[in-house]
This record gives sequence, structure tokens and C-alpha cells, in this order.
Amino acid sequence: MRTDDTGWSVGLDIGGTKTLAVLLDPTGAPGAQVRLPTERGADAVVDTAATAAADLLARADLGADQLTGIGIGLPGIVDPGTGRVEHAVNLGIAAGVPLADLVSRALDGRLNGRRGSGPVPVRLENDLNAAALGAAHLRGDDDGDLAFLALGTGLAAGLVLDGRLHRGAGGAAGEIGHLIYLPGGRPCPCGQHGCLEQYASGSALRAAWPGPGDRPAPVALFEAAAAGDPAALGVQQDFAEAVATAVRVLLLTTDVAHVVIGGGVSELGAPLLQVVRARLDHAAGTSRFLASMRMAERVDLAPRGVPVGAVGAALVGRKEP
Ligand SMILES: [Zn+2]
Repeated sequence: MRTDDTGWSVGLDIGGTKTLAVLLDPTGAPGAQVRLPTERGADAVVDTAATAAADLLARADLGADQLTGIGIGLPGIVDPGTGRVEHAVNLGIAAGVPLADLVSRALDGRLNGRRGSGPVPVRLENDLNAAALGAAHLRGDDDGDLAFLALGTGLAAGLVLDGRLHRGAGGAAGEIGHLIYLPGGRPCPCGQHGCLEQYASGSALRAAWPGPGDRPAPVALFEAAAAGDPAALGVQQDFAEAVATAVRVLLLTTDVAHVVIGGGVSELGAPLLQVVRARLDHAAGTSRFLASMRMAERVDLAPRGVPVGAVGAALVGRKEP
């Protein structure tokens, strides 16, 4: 996606617990950010989105007429063409909601009377797709190839190929969490058994390392492994192998230049990257073909301290419909 002939834009990443908003300047650099709790239901989601956007405009002293657009990344079934969303279970939105129009109108209402007001175009995108665009942009590679692998409650990837989102014919491109990893293995809510998501996700770690204490399961596991706990090392190794498999699937299918790991589990940081790279190197040691693909070098973590999904949503907001 080209980002050179555009003005300011706002990006919103609406997740189940928090809404992150960021202002992108005309050069594509992220600026002011807003973080608000997400409340469930379409009315509350619209209200929060309009509040966040109005706040960013006020902080930068911008009028609505200086905005190219607003982009929103959110989980659920999103129709970027119509700006409708449905089945966003985490947000309490079941039936189809024309979210883009509603946010545009709500923001217009708030800005009424301020200089340069008027309806701002709002565009929607699936949150993983938005994150993939944001990750490519933040690497300075808007025209490149990249997969954003989200290790959160579930496991799925967003794909940017030649600088464009690859959504697939039915919007399911990158749903690699439901590849069978272990035939006859753990049951998956999708109806199958042994899906990769059951071994390579935050919920998989919680199931495998329930452990005592109030630390998040990934943190508790990696701490125990670092302390040499043999059981923890085993669980960590199994987890790393499953994540490495996800990376291999993405690289072998799409040959993207980079696989960027994001999602809640990626907050583990360097120790996560290290164990995943170690499993990829191990596989490379068994296969000249895999070795030639230099997979370990092509995996990286999403940048910290920058809301990748919101930045990507802001890029969506700039795109001509
Ligand atoms: Zn499944």
C-alpha cells in the first residue's frame, strides 16, 4: 500500500478488553495515542470509537477536513466493502452492524460546530489483517511480503503479499490454527481434534501450564523453564515446536520475507523468539531444503510500545475505497 499522497488518518484497534487509537501523520509516522476500555455492544463500541477519534483530533488541533479517513480493525466477520461487521463475539456484536457509517455519524455529531467538521470516511478491516499492514509499515516495507502471526487466545495469521492484503476468496486466508497438528489430539471448538491452535496459542499454554499464582501462564512457564524446571522445559519445547510449525507453514505456503509474531504471548519478548528460532534451526539441521530457506532469520517479534494493529488500521483509513 502506498502512503505518500495522503493526509492525516486515525486508526483504531478494537479488541475484547481495550480500544487503542493512534494518529498517523501525512508521512505515515505514528503520533498521539489513546487507550480506552472496550465496552460490549454496538452502541458502546461506536461511542468509544468516536470518543477516541475526537480526542486525537483535539490533541493535534486538527479539523475533520484534514483527515483522509479513519480505519478500524476489529475481530469478527468484517465486510470492508460495506463497512459492516457481524459475529464479533468478543465485542458483543452478533447481528450485522453498519459500524463504519455509525462511527462516521457519531464523530460528526461530536465535532459539530468545530472548524472543518463534516463526515469523515470510516473503513473497517479484520484486526489481524490490519495488524499485518501495520507490521509491514513499521518495518518500512509497505510494498513487501509479510505474515503477522498472532499468538493470542487462538492462532491465526494476516497476510500482506506485494504490499496488499490477501484476504482469500472467503476471508479465511491465514486461518492456520485449524490445520491438524496431532491427529486424534486435543478437541478444538472448530469440531476437529488436534488443531495447531490447541498447541500454539495462549490458551494452549494455559491448559499445558495451569500452575499456581496470578502470573500469566506464558510468563510463569518461561520463568520456570529459565530456572531449569524439567517439566516446564518440556512444555516450553512442545510449545516452541508448535509455533515453529506455524512459521514453517506460512513460509512454505507464501514464502513471505518475514513472519512477525504478535498477540499477547509475544509480550514474552526475546526468550520466545529464541526458543522458536532454536526449533527452526533444529529442523534446518535435518533438511538441506529447509536450511536453504533460512527460516530462523525471517522470524521476528512485533515492535513493542507501538500499537501495530492501530497503525495498520490507520493505513486502512487512508486507502481509497
Ligand atoms: Zn480447530
